[in-house]
Amino acid sequence: LPTRLPKVGTTIFTVMSALANEHQAINLGQGFPDFGCDPALPNAVHEAMQAGHNQYPPMAGVAPLREGISKKIATLYGKHYDPQSEITITAGGTQGIFTVIACAVGPGDEVIVIEPVYDSYIPAIDTVGGKAVPVQLIVNRDAQGKITGYEIPWQAISEAITPSTKMIMINSPHNPTGMVWESGDLEKLAEIVRNTNILICSDEVYEHMVYDGQMHQSVARHPELANRSFVISSFGKTYHVTGWKVGYVAAPAALTHEFRKVHQFNVFTVNTPMQYGLAKYLENADHYLNLPQFYEQKRNYLRAGLAKTKFQLLPSPGTYFQCVDYTQLGIPESELNSADFCQWLTTEVGVAAIPVSAFYSNPVESGVIRFCFAKKEETLAEAIARLQR
Ligand code: GLN
Repeated sequence: LPTRLPKVGTTIFTVMSALANEHQAINLGQGFPDFGCDPALPNAVHEAMQAGHNQYPPMAGVAPLREGISKKIATLYGKHYDPQSEITITAGGTQGIFTVIACAVGPGDEVIVIEPVYDSYIPAIDTVGGKAVPVQLIVNRDAQGKITGYEIPWQAISEAITPSTKMIMINSPHNPTGMVWESGDLEKLAEIVRNTNILICSDEVYEHMVYDGQMHQSVARHPELANRSFVISSFGKTYHVTGWKVGYVAAPAALTHEFRKVHQFNVFTVNTPMQYGLAKYLENADHYLNLPQFYEQKRNYLRAGLAKTKFQLLPSPGTYFQCVDYTQLGIPESELNSADFCQWLTTEVGVAAIPVSAFYSNPVESGVIRFCFAKKEETLAEAIARLQR
């Protein structure tokens, strides 16, 4: 078969989870919680099933869930999306992103992505015959060569724009680095796309995981950007149910209209009882409003443990990921490339991580690996003990 994706194999997350299972390693690789959700959530799904919500929902998703999302976005970001015509429930963030690309990008269209980039974006662009144009986050280092953070490459983004640029894909809070957009960044993006027809695909699945008192900079906050943006979010991340695969895409009516044309022939719609359960749960804002505090505590716990190792900690202002530089460990293995290092760490130390180099189309080696801290304290404690050894 002539393949659309000649370079694609199994995702790094699947590979590392399988390796972790095989070696009984603690899995801080693939991003998912090892703790349960609030029982009220599955109870609400159960009630929905008992109440007979078991047939096809409307193509765009059940009304109460779309209404709840609309209310949440309006409250948090000050933008009203019409639940009828501007919000669509998707089978997780990844399907939302794929469908955004499938409805907006055609053969020859260019899509700017910022590396390190989440693994699904470029294959999705390739599948529809578009052309991914990668630019790279700027890695800031201090005088000793220690990574102090990442910076959005505004100049490289501007220079990458051509008459064929159809879309720019952005992601804050950012997987894998944990970097978050700051106030002022939305305006910088707006300046770049002003007077063009460039669309924005804004992956905001970690929107409720922004720490240290910072605010999430959703494109929904910026009217000019919101007018040309698809905003993607995920209930799996927010409610500790990554296996449910339910998320949503919010976009102005004209964009949503095109999105739904593809969505209805891709998945048609998303399972009914989960949507009713989520709708009921979403009525109470407490869970997501408390999420930064909940995860900040886990992040700080992991950081405190890692601070007693020779790993160098990078900032983690958002997401449930903590990146570290392993090149200063002073052991022969710190000479390995990050994919081999993660393999070694999993099989010999018993802790799985994800190499950040896997998020580049042409492997860029910065000696950084990613740990997920969406774990019980006892899991983090055991991982820390192994890493300290
Ligand atoms: N988003 C998850 C991560 O970054 C992975 C999901 C998947 O395995 N595709 O770890």
